[in-house]
Amino acid sequence: MSEYILEMKNITKEFPGVKALDNVNFKVKRGEIHCLIGENGSGKSTLMKVLSGFHKHGTYDGQIIFEGKEQKFNTIYDSEKVGIVTIYQELALIPELTVYENIFLGHEIKNNGIIDWNKTITEAEKVLKKLGYTLDTSKKVKDFGVGVQQIIEIAKALSKNVKLLILDEPTSALNETDSEKLLQIIKDLKNHGITSILISHKLNEVLEVADTITVLRDGLTITTIENKNISENVIIKHMVGREINDI
Ligand code: ADP
Ligand code: MG
Repeated sequence: MSEYILEMKNITKEFPGVKALDNVNFKVKRGEIHCLIGENGSGKSTLMKVLSGFHKHGTYDGQIIFEGKEQKFNTIYDSEKVGIVTIYQELALIPELTVYENIFLGHEIKNNGIIDWNKTITEAEKVLKKLGYTLDTSKKVKDFGVGVQQIIEIAKALSKNVKLLILDEPTSALNETDSEKLLQIIKDLKNHGITSILISHKLNEVLEVADTITVLRDGLTITTIENKNISENVIIKHMVGREINDI
């Protein structure tokens, strides 16, 4: 078995007038926390949307190898079936539905074709408990703050048997306490064998959790660095493409 759970090879993605990704290579090791960073517009979200099937096969060039097999996703549902789950910048929860409905939305637990709500509630509580949270799952999602909503998103991912979790700037709307809790959860998931790709603008949190850091610049340059003895300045230099003093 390869040490890499994911290999994206020579990925090129164009939008009218913009080459968002230009021959990008990106590899993620099994079980690691891999941080993807880069300035706004460098192509981070696009790379993850290619991976998740949001941009379907045929709309980009290049190859996606997941767990040793080439994948050609046509929908997000296709990537979720093999265990790749993305939590987007914009949360995808439905505020008017309950916590348990949200967690199992689209993959409801059924018994003879009928949704088994009791089991759904028990399972929703179980998966939240794994994350260290006890919530009244019959409450609506809108009754919780953005920090807890982020946890509900992760619970939803876990309920789908996630192997590779992608978080696109999950802490951008969180306060410091909620950010810390979220980073701790990502570390706990790692201890349970779940690989994560974390997109973040906050270098302090990247340096705190990353095993490996990949820097994207203008959809062109990629540098992959082990997070050992690396300084913030070196990362910024890769991001902007020159010495900090020159800025
Ligand atoms: P990042 O997530 O690193 O901020 P993005 O991947 O969102 O960057 O964007 C990379 C480039 O692709 C930007 O120039 C952006 O404007 C462009 N882009 C992204 N999505 C679209 C789209 N759906 N249509 C047109 N251009 C897009
Ligand atoms: Mg983005």
